[in-house]
Amino acid sequence: MHTVIARADQPESLPQHPWLRRLPLSSPTLPPAQHTNLYVIGHGELLLVDPGTPDEAENQRALAVLDELADEGHRVRGILLSHHHFDHTSGLSLLRRRLDVPVYAHAVTAQHLHPLGQSVDRLLDEGDVLPFAPQGLRVLHTPGHAAGHVCLLDRASRSLIIGDMAASIGTILIETTDGGDMRLYIQSLRRLQTLAHEDELRLWPAHGASVAPGAALLAAYIQHRAMREEKVMAALSRGTASLLDLVPLAYDDKPDVDRFLAARAILAHLYKLRDEGYAEEAAPGLWSPRRAY
Ligand SMILES: [Zn+2]
Repeated sequence: MHTVIARADQPESLPQHPWLRRLPLSSPTLPPAQHTNLYVIGHGELLLVDPGTPDEAENQRALAVLDELADEGHRVRGILLSHHHFDHTSGLSLLRRRLDVPVYAHAVTAQHLHPLGQSVDRLLDEGDVLPFAPQGLRVLHTPGHAAGHVCLLDRASRSLIIGDMAASIGTILIETTDGGDMRLYIQSLRRLQTLAHEDELRLWPAHGASVAPGAALLAAYIQHRAMREEKVMAALSRGTASLLDLVPLAYDDKPDVDRFLAARAILAHLYKLRDEGYAEEAAPGLWSPRRAY
């Protein structure tokens, strides 16, 4: 089992690697999570990860923390976005204006932000190393939750900053209408799980406190998605059905689930099953099994 040692809504930093700081800010995210973690990483030169709240007072609180760090000789040199979702980017314009530093993100994230009038200064890709931790921060491209999603590996502290790949509070939604892809998401989860297992990594999610051992949380996520996929397939085997028909069957373990959120999650599973040849959209909005699962 994985364990969490800090409160989700309290700042967190471990004495053995003080350059990695988690500052939860109240944000418009998916309940029951109520915060997005702003990560402040580095010694001397600092990188901010995921400025996720448009709330003025919350951003002022973050700036006050950065002022204290400035008194100790640390300066912010960049802002990185794990992906384009609003609860990870909505503080960008305010913090960028105040700090006047370059913004780092994957090219797909940059494409999403461009129509909103936000530009990205440095495009990130798999294998890039950013100079903000004793051995640098390695960029891992982990598509699935969002096509441009990136994680950061800090080998010196055996830490993985995982954005929305998993959370220690709340759930992660795969939103097909916004570039989410369940098949890629599970591939990316498996990749992170192998890495977390081999290197005994602690996970630092965008929502909730840090988690160790990280591999256990990722294994639980993979297992949970496999369980849900099996339920979707079993529900489908009863015959052609609409998304909302499938909800009570595929979520028979969660009778109180929000039907519309559940339907969106089921759709992500159905697209994966379709791409793998197990299901088909027989008519618009109606799904059928295609071959034995
Ligand atoms: Zn997200």
